[in-house]
Amino acid sequence: MPLRSKAVHVHRSDDPLLCPQCDLMVALPALSPGNRANCPRCHTTLQTAWAEPRRRPMVFALSALFMLLLANLFPFVSIHVKGLSSEITLYQIPQVMMSEDYASMAGMFILFVQLVPAFCMVTIILLCLRVQMPQSLKVRLARWLFMLKAWSMVEIFLAGVLVSFVKLMAYGNIGISLSFYAYVLFCLLQVRAFQCLDRRTLWNDIAPAPAPGRVLRVGQSGLQQQLRACPCCTAVLPAGQKQCPRCGTKGHLRKKHSLQWTMALLITAALLYIPANVLPIMNTELLGNPAPSTIMAGVILLWSDGSYPVALVIFIASIMVPTLKMMAIAWLCWDARHPDRQRDSERMHLIYEVVEFVGRWSMIDVFVIAVLSALVRIGQLMNVYPQVAAVLFAMVVILTMIAAMTFDPRLSWDGLNRKNQKELHLDSK
Ligand SMILES: [Zn+2]
Ligand SMILES: [Zn+2]
Repeated sequence: MPLRSKAVHVHRSDDPLLCPQCDLMVALPALSPGNRANCPRCHTTLQTAWAEPRRRPMVFALSALFMLLLANLFPFVSIHVKGLSSEITLYQIPQVMMSEDYASMAGMFILFVQLVPAFCMVTIILLCLRVQMPQSLKVRLARWLFMLKAWSMVEIFLAGVLVSFVKLMAYGNIGISLSFYAYVLFCLLQVRAFQCLDRRTLWNDIAPAPAPGRVLRVGQSGLQQQLRACPCCTAVLPAGQKQCPRCGTKGHLRKKHSLQWTMALLITAALLYIPANVLPIMNTELLGNPAPSTIMAGVILLWSDGSYPVALVIFIASIMVPTLKMMAIAWLCWDARHPDRQRDSERMHLIYEVVEFVGRWSMIDVFVIAVLSALVRIGQLMNVYPQVAAVLFAMVVILTMIAAMTFDPRLSWDGLNRKNQKELHLDSK
């Protein structure tokens, strides 16, 4: 349900907040369940109202945790090649990587695919049930939950598993075991749990939002009124207040040195991207003959085998997306440096959203290698080993994710805000 733009008065039942993307003060009306409030200017979803906003995410999170437990108890997948077979469980995947001296990859795997999602689910259950615990612990858990949310990569890992199946079909038969189905359910349930979780309801349960101590003018930007939104709990705070009294998150009117940080991370990622593409990403040993391959070589091999859709998926996720993402972030930085230029802020916003959403999916190839190197251990016949470029590539994805996070999207709108203010000023004369 889009809000009417240019609302000027704050009604008593309305709930004013600053749009996290474009910094516009918006009055949120009371929403009926199933409705969504979008920012009238940049169309970011500000709030989604759910019937039973506490029970729903709690039930999904609880069932997700149960499925994750099941997924770890039984064999995950198996492969049969010419009478020989190999079978793995979920927790064996990082073990194999550890034994190959790829502790960094094993760590990433355990964090992104098991620990972070499990922590988020437990936290959602505790907070939605409003379990009695010290206030400081509640605040800390909620802060960690929203900070770690982006690093839960369950669905990307699952896509990686499916891609490795296609890669392996040429060599042997693949068996799917009970744990695999449990993991698919875990993936769907945890996505739902995150979807149904409303940040504002959750924070209001922990503590009421601090009063900003002045009149909030809807339809103006936070910058014009010297107000800022807390990046964690969305409370509206005076610009001078460095620490949010509700969640303790430190912040400024605009993220400090946002563009410098983003550019520094971006340049590091771009430099690492070169060896990540030139060096081998994995080594396939067939009958003792090693055959190291790069990302591009893997795509070409898949294409020549006739697996066109998978070749396309890997090409888009591993080569096109990282390149376009780095170009898009660089362009956003350049654009924010020139605030007075004529621009289409809505398009900038769309680019930012796409970059934030799509970037994580580049991790897919790293997970494919993790699954392949753990599963394909078939004596002398065939073995797959991870190579150094897999770690480099994972670092590129992580760095570009952090670069997108350090970028302050409000900078793109500040030029427009200033222009509006000038017009307002002229009108009143
Ligand atoms: Zn907005
Ligand atoms: Zn806060």
